[in-house]
Amino acid sequence: MSTANLWMDLTWPEIQQAAAENKVLVFVVGAVEQHGPHLPTSVDALLPMAIAERVAERIDGIVAPCTNYGYKSLLRAGGGPHFPGSLGLRGSTVMAMVSDIIAQFIQQGWRRIIVLDWHLENVPFVFEGVDEALRAAGDVPGLKVVKIDNPNGLGVAAQPGLDQDLFGDDFPGWVVEHAAIWETSAMWAAFPEKVRIEKIVDGRPPEPLDYDVLPVPADAAPANGVFWKATRASKEKGERILAAVTDGIVAVAKKEFGL
Ligand code: ZN
Ligand code: MN
Repeated sequence: MSTANLWMDLTWPEIQQAAAENKVLVFVVGAVEQHGPHLPTSVDALLPMAIAERVAERIDGIVAPCTNYGYKSLLRAGGGPHFPGSLGLRGSTVMAMVSDIIAQFIQQGWRRIIVLDWHLENVPFVFEGVDEALRAAGDVPGLKVVKIDNPNGLGVAAQPGLDQDLFGDDFPGWVVEHAAIWETSAMWAAFPEKVRIEKIVDGRPPEPLDYDVLPVPADAAPANGVFWKATRASKEKGERILAAVTDGIVAVAKKEFGL
């Protein structure tokens, strides 16, 4: 990865120039959340950042600094509030944070922005933050924000049959894919030094899975934080996932920004 694509490695005149050249800016909204005994709590920030860097290289874009924090972990998407290590914000904070950041991108001249979100819980709050910033900005010629919160779906669209290849015949669906085959494989490929390979373990879906109970019962999540068969993960699967998701997002960027 050339540091020429990373906002945090650039000087202000370089950033000013990139905005003036109307480069595409990729902004990741992350999360701090448990991902089983084998993956770090940074997965939902690190994986989309790794993909953002690959996308930026392909379309000569810039990767904005990521927000490490996101909306709080929910039982059915990431295990919920009982895991040490999961840290989250209330929805209004996520909305305000995203809105403040997008408003400054617009103010500083960025007109082609991709907002990439890996953490399911963030979705409506990130949408609202973007929408609020755009409404406040008014009519800005050339301004377009593409919000991507289903990068895995775009990956599967880019490589039809990928999910079948990776998951096999007994895959219950994306609802159980937390710290399991997809995320473990992708982390293994992108950040092998951060995966505790000897600790990769299978888990079970949360219960209940089809509705919420508040307060969240302490024993509703799988004890190890893994929702399904992480032992089927591999580095090779991860490389296919990263390539497919990158292709999917690049295709969207080309279509929406006319690259
Ligand atoms: Zn995750
Ligand atoms: Mn998550």
